[in-house]
Amino acid sequence: MLIDGHGRTVNYLRVSVTERCNFRCQYCMPEKPFSWVPRENLLSFEELFLFMKVAIDEGVTKIRITGGEPLLREGLDKFIKMIHDYKPDIDLALTTNAYLLPQTAQALKDAGLKRLNISLDSLKPEVAHQIAQKDVLAQVLKGIDKALEVGLGVKINMVPLKGINDVEILDVMNYCRERNIKIRFIEYMENSHASKTIEGMHGREILEKVKEGHTIRALGREGASPSFNYLLDEEYEFGLIDPHKHDFCENCNRIRLTAEGNLIPCLYFDEALSIAKAVKEGDIEGASEVLATVLRDKPKENRWTEESLEEGQDVSSRAFYETGG
Ligand code: SAM
Ligand code: SF4
Repeated sequence: MLIDGHGRTVNYLRVSVTERCNFRCQYCMPEKPFSWVPRENLLSFEELFLFMKVAIDEGVTKIRITGGEPLLREGLDKFIKMIHDYKPDIDLALTTNAYLLPQTAQALKDAGLKRLNISLDSLKPEVAHQIAQKDVLAQVLKGIDKALEVGLGVKINMVPLKGINDVEILDVMNYCRERNIKIRFIEYMENSHASKTIEGMHGREILEKVKEGHTIRALGREGASPSFNYLLDEEYEFGLIDPHKHDFCENCNRIRLTAEGNLIPCLYFDEALSIAKAVKEGDIEGASEVLATVLRDKPKENRWTEESLEEGQDVSSRAFYETGG
């Protein structure tokens, strides 16, 4: 079992396989970064997998593949199959913008993938275009249909932004409700890479919008999930991911690995240790030591709380497209 320096059990590893993306979401990567990680610095799937085996053997039971846009990385289905074959009962999921799902969903399902989280911020083509800075909606909706058709579990993530897609909170939720898909609203997390012109919505503002014409009942956090769940009209469950709340980090169970091998203990902070040297040398003990150090030093909580933001601190400089959100 993996326990961090604050006594929390860590059993969840998020692996970003690329920082590159085919979208330019305003809250994540509004512009192409000054430079990408050179391809030769990316760990191969075999190298990433070597670390993942160490983490699984030591207690990780849940793995999420993310990015950037993970479906841009060639051979992703083979990588998923490697993980699935090593531990078929592992909870294996992927986060994607769905653009490439129409042509990849079946291979992902065949490789052993169980679940997908898909970003869907709007059902209006022009608003989806404004957020992703590309005409994406038709292809994303096709991707969602294809995922459902091949039998993958689907959850939707929406990041509500003031004056952009805030009027669509109920529409996107109804789209999900009609398809029996869970939606999770994610509070915009301020970071120095995002567009300076956008403003996120606080969880309570999102709930106010949901309440227009509906009843909601709080259900609470589900285990170590960052999502606080609610029941809409006593029948449909939706979630709110609210990192600006004090209790958000209490049960944090996750660490993140980037495509170049940085092991990140907290989404907010810049701290990370590299496992690249260890995995390139096939040094399992070395990889395990890096893992132990990162767990020991995992911060107690993020600094997205309202108080921290009001103190005028610098916002997080961690790029979501690097850490995988
Ligand atoms: N490209 C994939 C996608 O968009 O689903 C996976 C990577 S993306 C970084 C993972 C998640 O992070 C997405 O659900 C996205 O909405 C979320 N995200 C990115 N930047 C964010 C921000 N500043 N605040 C809140 N959520 C963010
Ligand atoms: Fe790409 Fe996902 Fe970031 Fe949007 S949120 S720019 S789709 S990595």
